[in-house]
Amino acid sequence: MKKFDAHVHSVFSHDGKLPIEELVRCAAGKADGFCVTDHCDFDLQYGECKANFKCDPLDVEAYYKNFVLTKKAIKDDKNNSLTLLFGIEAGFSAKGDANKRYEDLICRYPFDEVINSVHCVGGKEAYFRDWFYFKSKKRAYGEYLETVLDSLDAPYPYDVVAHIGYITHGAPYRDKELRYEDFPDLFDAILKGIIARGKTLEINFHHDVHPSEDVLRRYFELGGRDICYGGDSHRGEICARIDEFEKLASGIGFEGYNHFEGRVPVFVPFGRDD
Ligand SMILES: [Zn+2]
Ligand SMILES: [Zn+2]
Repeated sequence: MKKFDAHVHSVFSHDGKLPIEELVRCAAGKADGFCVTDHCDFDLQYGECKANFKCDPLDVEAYYKNFVLTKKAIKDDKNNSLTLLFGIEAGFSAKGDANKRYEDLICRYPFDEVINSVHCVGGKEAYFRDWFYFKSKKRAYGEYLETVLDSLDAPYPYDVVAHIGYITHGAPYRDKELRYEDFPDLFDAILKGIIARGKTLEINFHHDVHPSEDVLRRYFELGGRDICYGGDSHRGEICARIDEFEKLASGIGFEGYNHFEGRVPVFVPFGRDD
């Protein structure tokens, strides 16, 4: 099977560690291609979201230049057949000026892939424990899923709905699991919304697998077939868990997965090496 990672961070993300040329070295022998998808957090800079960590705005011009130079170096290297792609991870904001800025930015650069992500819920980054103060699990996870549902109608163009279940990372509950059976109506609205809009559902392998298997099974049952592998690595672990991804997804019934070139999904079948 050809191996493509549709979610990779470089040093241009506030939490990424390696320049793009170093990521290319990390990918050697492990991936056929990957899309570098650095964070653009207009939700923090121009939206409603307050972060409790330092987050400089993405320097898109420097990011693009580093991509172009690295892409050229790959082209000039006859021994390197890696497909390097250029993307972005947009942090959705329910309010504020962020959405207009994403629209402008996405028109200005030749992105291969745009990931739409919910990191901020109710005006605050939801990755950390303090987001959960005084919230029951039902309320916290319900608010998160409502925001994911809102994010499907983001006015800017996007291709991928990322890491549904992100909220569980910092959750203080003994049982952190976000299950389909606890929010069937909300999950159905989200999954049907993804299918109706022709978007791709990411299976994210940064920490726990998101979304969880029960949600993926429901997506498949509803007719969803567009998935992608999101390693979401920050230190060059490109395609590190793609065998686990293939086993999980093919066990549910998926026959392959997407990556994006020029904002067009490219289907890769599972289990074949041609
Ligand atoms: Zn993310
Ligand atoms: Zn990410």
